[in-house]
Amino acid sequence: MLDQESQTLLEELIITPSPTGYESKGQQIWKDYLKKYSDRVESDAYGSALARIETNADVATVMIEAHADEIGMVVQHISDKGFVTLNKLGGSDSTIARGKRVYIHNKSGRVTGVVGNTAIHLQDNKNGGGKQPAWKDIYVDIGVSSKEEALEMIQVGDPVTYTDDLEFLNDEIITGRALDNRIGSFAIARVMRNLYTQKNKLKVNVMALNSIQEEVGGFGARMMSFRHMPDAAIVTDVTHATDTPGINNKEHGTVKLGEGPTVQHGGANHPGVVELIEKTASNHKISIQHEATSIRTGTDTDSIFYQRTGIPSALISLPLRYMHSPVETASLTDLENLVTLMTETVLAMEPDQEFTL
Ligand SMILES: [Zn+2]
Repeated sequence: MLDQESQTLLEELIITPSPTGYESKGQQIWKDYLKKYSDRVESDAYGSALARIETNADVATVMIEAHADEIGMVVQHISDKGFVTLNKLGGSDSTIARGKRVYIHNKSGRVTGVVGNTAIHLQDNKNGGGKQPAWKDIYVDIGVSSKEEALEMIQVGDPVTYTDDLEFLNDEIITGRALDNRIGSFAIARVMRNLYTQKNKLKVNVMALNSIQEEVGGFGARMMSFRHMPDAAIVTDVTHATDTPGINNKEHGTVKLGEGPTVQHGGANHPGVVELIEKTASNHKISIQHEATSIRTGTDTDSIFYQRTGIPSALISLPLRYMHSPVETASLTDLENLVTLMTETVLAMEPDQEFTL
């Protein structure tokens, strides 16, 4: 379903580790791709990347945004016997770590390790052996027997990711580590490709922002939107698909895989931008789903909309099962529809586009 160029880009973005605070290798892939589909590519001090399409100095500028980082872990401590304790980078779930393979990314490459799991026969349930582990209870075995040996390979502060890459369950459904939000970086790159190849139809300037450190507080998005102050922003991230067993829809809403990207209402989402997105979806017969924002969207939208005097913003999300696990699962049809919806919304904007209430 993806063209060859898109599949290669998506695979490269997922394979290249980009844990929070250590995004530079992944950003390089994104920037190299965008050189072909933008007028200018730049980065800021902390490595958020920006690609621009410039049409005319006097027209409105719209920003499309995704976050570049993925959750991960970091080397916290190395024991005398060479076992490695981890801490989390972003919201990594310690209860799924045991029995997994990980890469520890050092200066020159990576070291493979396994997260130790005491054999079921040897677990002492009376002493809490069966309880859900916290990160301090987790250790990685890298096949050495002393701290000295370990230190020849890794050091405290090295980031850690699961070894899982991208896999196709079938032509339609993909699964892997870091879909949150490497798939968003992919989506805005694809929107830029669409816009750049029909630049003659574009009536506004466009900047695509691929921000660092969303998973720990939306920091990259804050720095860059403060600096560049676009006239409007359309953010994309993943959202929880709630169509798997055991999820309370009354509490978490209903979002289904394959039924289209979601539009959020309320909070940081500006009603005028949301209306334009809804109208565009209806004009182009793109099915969308709806979500309510209670207090925060939990995405970079929260970091962008209140910069300086306010940036009218809206969030379009990709339904995702099993968020923050190494088997994050999404639909390529949803992805394709999300890219089309973002592209057409930008194309629908007028040179003097303003959003007021
Ligand atoms: Zn995310």
